[in-house]
Amino acid sequence: MLNVPSQSFPGPSSQQRVASGGRSKVPLKQGRSLMDWIRLTKSGKDLTGLKGRLIEVTEEELKKHNKKDDCWICIRGFVYNVSPYMEYHPGGEDELMRAAGSDGTDLFDQVHRWVNYESMLKECLVGRMAMKPAFPKGMLPQSQVTDTLAKEGPSSPSYDWFQTDSLVTIVIYTKQKDINLDSVIVDHRDDSFRAETVIKDYSYLVHVALSHEIQEDFSVLVVENVGKIEIVLKKKENTSWKCLGHPQENHNSFIPKKDTGLFYRKCQLVSKEDVTHDTKLFCLMLPPSTHLEVPVGQHVYLRLPITGTEIVKPYTPVCDSLFSEFKEPVLPNNIYIYFLIKIYPAGFFTPELDQLQIGDYVSVSNPEGNFIISQLQELEDLFLLAAGTGFTPMVKVLNYALTNIPSLRKVKLMFFNKTEDDIIWRSQLEKLAFKDKRFEVEFVLSAPTSEWSGKQGYISPALLSEFLKRRSDTSKVLICLCGPTPFTEQGMKMLHDLNFSKDEIHSFTA
Ligand code: FAD
Ligand code: NAP
Repeated sequence: MLNVPSQSFPGPSSQQRVASGGRSKVPLKQGRSLMDWIRLTKSGKDLTGLKGRLIEVTEEELKKHNKKDDCWICIRGFVYNVSPYMEYHPGGEDELMRAAGSDGTDLFDQVHRWVNYESMLKECLVGRMAMKPAFPKGMLPQSQVTDTLAKEGPSSPSYDWFQTDSLVTIVIYTKQKDINLDSVIVDHRDDSFRAETVIKDYSYLVHVALSHEIQEDFSVLVVENVGKIEIVLKKKENTSWKCLGHPQENHNSFIPKKDTGLFYRKCQLVSKEDVTHDTKLFCLMLPPSTHLEVPVGQHVYLRLPITGTEIVKPYTPVCDSLFSEFKEPVLPNNIYIYFLIKIYPAGFFTPELDQLQIGDYVSVSNPEGNFIISQLQELEDLFLLAAGTGFTPMVKVLNYALTNIPSLRKVKLMFFNKTEDDIIWRSQLEKLAFKDKRFEVEFVLSAPTSEWSGKQGYISPALLSEFLKRRSDTSKVLICLCGPTPFTEQGMKMLHDLNFSKDEIHSFTA
């Protein structure tokens, strides 16, 4: 069933108005919510003014359409008339106008690369650029790829393959040492085989239509010290392969990650448990023939069709509990991904997610995020400041730090919530603090009942200076922050005022 929000949707605090990362937030007029936009796109109204025709757009033509009531923008070689969308844009009209009459791909990627504009703006499509201002993603000629990378990026990986009677092994030589099992994501569907390796900010893709059938299960091995990844496929028939297969889109490309599209696979909902009155633990199962491990501190995008439009929102995978030991993933591939998700009754996406039945599907993207695990190396004190579901990235960070960082002396979590009923995994946190003396948790409530004897209020310099005691001036400290955008922004400012350096602070944002 579709949740149709009220006319005042989205509300003053809606995520649809609140862009993360401190960008401008612009109140939308009544009747200009995402749902209203979807309704307009389905109304059959001619939104381009071209009566359904698609045209080739020259650069000169594009430049002419640079006014609010006649605004064309090019994204990845496709031109959209965004004038009808102006009033619906959560970032405001001025933000859209920055790309008026020009190629807005870079601006778009900086702000929200993950938004599925193809689906949201499909009724606004004017046509393709006749003279492309930039090559579409992944289509740079090889010489150009190499030239760019030689100057600024890591050296390009390569791949090879060999076979025995029953196995085919694809070897990716990354030429990097800090490679592990979460660096490579493998998807095999029908005859299409796709292995994306993430190396720093770059992505290397092996993408082929295999020449012969293989079995469902495969294994992925990483030889860390030489940066070699081996993907071992099992042949369905013991015949000799003459070639691995036919190259597919972007095969053997090595390009900045920001220039790649997000790849999704359909995952099945296998369980859904209440955690608090409004937050649930969702467990999704990856499809067979997928290898995907979400790195600590990173998030993915979940995608669902809502009234025919694909809607995408970010979520941060957690462990199934705070007590699942942080193990090195073992073969066969990990197949479950857990999420703690708060359901907002008046929200756009979460009520739809909540409607899913066990066995239903939701698409899950490749991971994204700028947390780097090496930030935890040699750490002595780890401080986690979380508000509401801002707790989610802390789960894996906490678990990883307690299990893998021998230098760790203390981990302290300050967890901000409205009431006691809102605290996610309270008893698990208390048990963990009892079991592991390095861990301490402090709950701070903004609207407690009169029985509450703990800390009260909002994030403040007084609370922080009391909480963030470093052992010595030289001890290695990391403070992680996550919650509603204003919480994170205020927290960052307070931490700078308390003289913590930029390297000692990590804020989780989209
Ligand atoms: P929205 O439609 O965006 O609404 C959100 C708020 O607006 C709610 O308070 C809602 O009640 C209010 N609202 C909506 N309509 C109205 C109305 N008509 N009147 C008054 N108020 C209204 N969330 C998690 O739960 N778990 C995670 O692991 C997680 N990870 C994230 C990771 C990242 C990197 C980021 C940026 C966000 C993450 N989030 C997470 C938040 C998540 O992406 C969504 O923003 C959230 O689920 C809300 O989505 P929604 O569409 O249901 O709500
Ligand atoms: P919430 O329940 O609304 O708020 C949690 C606590 O923070 C409450 O005590 C609340 O106080 C307080 N708070 C809210 N706004 C504040 C502000 N401006 N300054 C100080 N304190 C403030 O939180 P939620 O609904 O779970 O939302 C969690 C947020 O975290 C969402 O915005 C989500 O997008 C974000 N998130 C981000 C990531 C990420 O970027 N990686 C991951 C997960 C979640 P009151 O309610 O009393 O005002």
